Amino acid sequence: MAGENLASVTQVEADGGPPAPLLTDTQQAALRALCDTFVPSVEHPDDADGFWARTATDGGADQGIEQVLATLPDADRAGLLQLLDALFLQNIANVSQRSREQILRNVALASPEAGAGLAALSGLTMFFTYGGVDPQTGQNPNWRRWGYPGPVSPPPDVSKPIEPFVPEGDTELEADVCVVGSGAGGGVIAGTLAKQGLKVVVLEAGGYYNESDFNQLELWAYQNLYYRGGPTPTAEQTISMQAGSNLGGGTTVNWTNCLRTHPWVRAQWAQEFGLEGVDTPDFDRHLDVVMERISANDRCSDLNGPHQRIKEGSEKLGHHVHVCVRNTDESKYSPELAAYMGFGDQTGSKQSTTKTFLQDAYDAGADIVARCSARRVIAKDGRAAGVEAQYADPVTGREARVTVRAPQVVVAAGALESPALLMRSEIGGPAVGKYLRLHPTVAVFGMYDEDQKAWWGTPQALVNDHFADVEDGYGFLVEGAQYAPAITGAAVPWTSGYRHKDVLSKNRFGASFIAVTRDRGHGWIELGPNGEPVHHYVIEDELDQRNLRHAIAELARLHEAAGAREIFHLAGGLPHWKRGEDGLERFIAEAQGVPFVAGGQKVFTAHQMGSCRMGTDPETSVAGPYGELHDTAGVWIGDGSAFPTPSGTNPMISIMALAHRTAEAVVEAAGAGRPLETAAPQPA
Ligand SMILES: Cc1cc2nc3c(=O)[nH]c(=O)nc-3n(C[C@H](O)[C@H](O)[C@H](O)COP(=O)(O)OP(=O)(O)OC[C@H]3O[C@@H](n4cnc5c(N)ncnc54)[C@H](O)[C@@H]3O)c2cc1C
Repeated sequence: MAGENLASVTQVEADGGPPAPLLTDTQQAALRALCDTFVPSVEHPDDADGFWARTATDGGADQGIEQVLATLPDADRAGLLQLLDALFLQNIANVSQRSREQILRNVALASPEAGAGLAALSGLTMFFTYGGVDPQTGQNPNWRRWGYPGPVSPPPDVSKPIEPFVPEGDTELEADVCVVGSGAGGGVIAGTLAKQGLKVVVLEAGGYYNESDFNQLELWAYQNLYYRGGPTPTAEQTISMQAGSNLGGGTTVNWTNCLRTHPWVRAQWAQEFGLEGVDTPDFDRHLDVVMERISANDRCSDLNGPHQRIKEGSEKLGHHVHVCVRNTDESKYSPELAAYMGFGDQTGSKQSTTKTFLQDAYDAGADIVARCSARRVIAKDGRAAGVEAQYADPVTGREARVTVRAPQVVVAAGALESPALLMRSEIGGPAVGKYLRLHPTVAVFGMYDEDQKAWWGTPQALVNDHFADVEDGYGFLVEGAQYAPAITGAAVPWTSGYRHKDVLSKNRFGASFIAVTRDRGHGWIELGPNGEPVHHYVIEDELDQRNLRHAIAELARLHEAAGAREIFHLAGGLPHWKRGEDGLERFIAEAQGVPFVAGGQKVFTAHQMGSCRMGTDPETSVAGPYGELHDTAGVWIGDGSAFPTPSGTNPMISIMALAHRTAEAVVEAAGAGRPLETAAPQPA
């Protein structure tokens, strides 16, 4: 599902006249009827703000969807247009809301493709209805109902301290090391190596944005800062994935929760996968170096309503909680503005890699090329020789082929893309793309008597780690999530127009608790016909299913203990509990009973790992215990894809620490460097 900002849609019309219509009249009629079936006008006595009366098309959702359809690959667009044709033939444009809802139920059952198409169009409708803004006001009228202020300050006028290298036509660069990807792992490696005096070139597929661009708007953020334009489903539609794609990668948009790697995970990585030293104080040294460079501290973690509720529920049930350590500059911290950090942090408080390790790399003379996607690692005689990449700037229209000649190449494109780069390069061996771990995450929504002001404060301020190790080192963490109106609209399962509106009408009182599970099972990645990765993940491991069901129950119990008056589980059928009316255990059993399939449990991931993992066996791992490929000397894995198994913690800190360890090995292999502890930044 890709987002689109209504403001920019209107802009296209104002600047260049309306684009040629993509849909026929009948397809347009079907789309409008479909949008207004998902979000109908409902007569309601409590409607001074027009929330109940307002339809999806009142906010222009159909126009937004038409713009998204124009950007889709031909086959995907053709499928959705066929679906609209079928809906028109069923007369959806002319029948009552009740009949329309019945048509949708029938069509969803007709075929998995039709069901997936409806799910995609429903998600987009909710995105535009609850996330789109009026370009004149920067506001969405539905937010009034929730007390959500929307953007509270304009982007500040600050300069960009990194000047990316812009290729003038096809370009060849020389380097000691080429780093592909600039996120948590790539950023650390680039900064560490450049400070050692190595000539580094960083290639980053996404654009370079900073405080001066961050407008606190969700849909703008998805389009510009996120992988594939925002939440994107696995091939089986079982899990909705989010990852960053910009200079800084996930660290630009993430929630700054800094958790050290669990001791039992470190022991497993060392003992079962041969990552020597990871279970000793030497790995603490790596953790300490990265925590210090990104100013990790626990003094900027104010609790908003949902976090207060997690704390109260946890204390009542006797669970351990701790305040989050976050990578944030105390002098710039503001809890009001921290709330928007998933859309980019306007204050500059967030110590992302662009503010830390990438800046170090730049200051030490690295060339950083944004909007430049690595297509292939060049390998000769079993060792690295460089990278071929494609530069494309959608703003200027400039395109160029970029070739970097380098004897060391670090692949750090994130666990969703790194395996695709290796596959396109035909290196890495049989384990490339296998063992994709996602930390499958479920959410349970509680409604309280008081306004929760969930839009205030840092998205993650507190962690309940009572269930971190339920069985065999596998379990889950209970955490909060960022307030995001478009995601909220799409995450609440649609069962009828009235019921969806009813739940959202109470959003002001809502708190969502999430459980991040450590997965024992895994998905896999293959290359699609266009050379881009296809991500597969089916939740079938028996321990993973047990932990997810356990997590659903504990989230519900926490809400009940914290005083929720209603609880909704985000899953097909929208299981619901109301205080005083029904037994909590009946609700839990119903919620747990929803299957882990498309249209069943709603499962999310912001943590992708393991798809190019380290280990000693070339059959089951891609890289050796220090990150270098088994089959290609001088090619290193430097991101979350290197994890032998999932961290079980929000992974940024483990990725950075492992990347720092790998950087030391690269320095040694490159025959360069000073003792790392005494290294001082080089002048630019
Ligand atoms: C909304 C959200 C909230 C999160 N909150 C937290 C949190 O609070 N704490 C935590 O620990 N973790 C959090 N995470 C997860 C964390 O941010 C990621 O695990 C981490 O950033 C992954 O690091 P990485 O180096 O593996 O990849 P990334 O940080 O994803 O970086 C990979 C980069 O490579 C680029 N790239 C991809 N393909 C190519 C190519 N072919 N050529 C060039 N460049 C390419 C991408 O554009 C991207 O910028 C969150 C993630 C999200 C999305």
